[in-house]
Amino acid sequence: MLLVLVSTVIGLAAQGYINSTYRTWSRVPASGATGADVARRMLDANGCQVVDIKRVNGHLTDHYDPRDNSLHLSSENLTGGSVASVAVACHEAGHAAQKAHGYAMMKVRTALVPVVNFTQNTWMLVLMLGLFMNIAGLTTLAIVFFAFSVVFQLVTLPVEIDASRRAVAYIEQSGMGEVDVRGAKKVLTAAALTYVAAALTSILQLLYLLARTNDDR
Ligand SMILES: [Zn+2]
Repeated sequence: MLLVLVSTVIGLAAQGYINSTYRTWSRVPASGATGADVARRMLDANGCQVVDIKRVNGHLTDHYDPRDNSLHLSSENLTGGSVASVAVACHEAGHAAQKAHGYAMMKVRTALVPVVNFTQNTWMLVLMLGLFMNIAGLTTLAIVFFAFSVVFQLVTLPVEIDASRRAVAYIEQSGMGEVDVRGAKKVLTAAALTYVAAALTSILQLLYLLARTNDDR
């Protein structure tokens, strides 16, 4: 119970912080450019001329998809000319740059995706079977499956932080204003905290699972 509460509070706090930081900086105009403009320039500067920029529906649904090698930006970040739009668009361009430059942690993360998709969908079922049928081997397998999600989130952290680092470095060197740089740092730090919160929550869940299954034996 306490764990659910702690996880929820961590998650909500991180979510609230990114939302309010994003809102603040989405009211500050960037130095005469939209998210798409700056992301395009950053992509070209990183040798990513072939990377396309597409529109995606929703709020903060922005992502880079390695499968079609395209940035998918939400309308507000694509055509919005705020400091927050530029920060988010450049962060996604940072992921494209990671792929172009063969950034190792991104390769590890991409390789883990199919494994984690499988383990995330099955760990709970395996755990239930293990507990109901009282088969310790199945319970252990479920925990191993869950541990993959934890590893995945830990690998995601450096990938996200590196994409933000590339974004801020580009905004800085591209000669945009001091406000653009300061805002990008704030928005992207807040975004990184949501990944830290997610990783922390799953570590807590793993510890809980380990403690509970040890009690049962
Ligand atoms: Zn990212």
